[in-house]
Amino acid sequence: MKLVERIDDLRGLLDDARADGKSVGFVPTMGFFHEGHRSLMRVARDAHDVVVVSLFVNPLQFGPAEDLGGYPRDPEGDAAVCEAEGVDILFAPPGDEMYPDGPPVTGVTVADLTEGLCGLGRPVHFGGVATVVTKLFSIVGPCTAYFGRKDFQQLAVVRRLARDLSLPVEVVGCPLVREPDGLAMSSRNAYLSDRERAAAAVLFRALRTGVAEVQAGERDPATLRRVVANAVTAEQRVRLEYAEVVSAGDLAPLERVEGDVLVAVAARAGKARLIDNVTLRVEGQSVTADLGVIAGAEMSEETPCAAS
Ligand code: AMP
Repeated sequence: MKLVERIDDLRGLLDDARADGKSVGFVPTMGFFHEGHRSLMRVARDAHDVVVVSLFVNPLQFGPAEDLGGYPRDPEGDAAVCEAEGVDILFAPPGDEMYPDGPPVTGVTVADLTEGLCGLGRPVHFGGVATVVTKLFSIVGPCTAYFGRKDFQQLAVVRRLARDLSLPVEVVGCPLVREPDGLAMSSRNAYLSDRERAAAAVLFRALRTGVAEVQAGERDPATLRRVVANAVTAEQRVRLEYAEVVSAGDLAPLERVEGDVLVAVAARAGKARLIDNVTLRVEGQSVTADLGVIAGAEMSEETPCAAS
């Protein structure tokens, strides 16, 4: 595996690979790898000649009171994970390689999709994500890029910006990977004390309660939202930020729970801000849930977790 820190070096390597007819799979990350990241690397490894992982903790996507300074980091451990997963290139640029003139005066804004859900509590976040992802796509060049459905809104934003700006990148969404008790894997779970860690599993339980309501026939989004919110607030160590029920396509509010539906939650436990979601396909009486996968279980587009 090559460790690359300079933009020009990465461009040179990938231009040469494409000139040889090789396909490039790209996994953008902020590091401190867990099974969620590894699952993206494996999907990319299976599908491409050259796999590039980027590791960059992007300051632009953190608000002033957020956890940029304390964000967990383990560059050596991350390099070892990439090696073990058969990654060809780990692109880990220093901050001044990405932003040599300080914070860029040019930015990418994705309207509408960024207004609700996490955009409400994190007003600068998606502008920072859209800008760095656009920059990374420009550096990596034509490729297929893999993103986790854990960050469902981010995936929607990235898909849309690639389409709106005709970037030569195919954006692929991959399953949300969970701990055995259902907690969505996240680098930020490292902030949790043992008690907070145990309490944090309430998010997935709340989402499953919501799924069960829909399976029992509930079709009112406000009622569903309330059921999920109440299930989260039953756990005292977790502070709910939002529980939302929106269209999975454009993240817009729904009149009825039908079609492709996203049920998403955000909450705080101790210092950690946690997000989680499930998607539902509701057609008449038929309800199919995508709850993600438990780490280590066979990966599949369909959920291997039971919905009850
Ligand atoms: P991050 O390093 O947190 O910025 O995440 C890098 C990529 O990994 C993003 O596409 C995330 O959606 C994805 N990812 C993070 N956690 C998970 C997870 N639990 N399951 C699936 N993908 C994930």
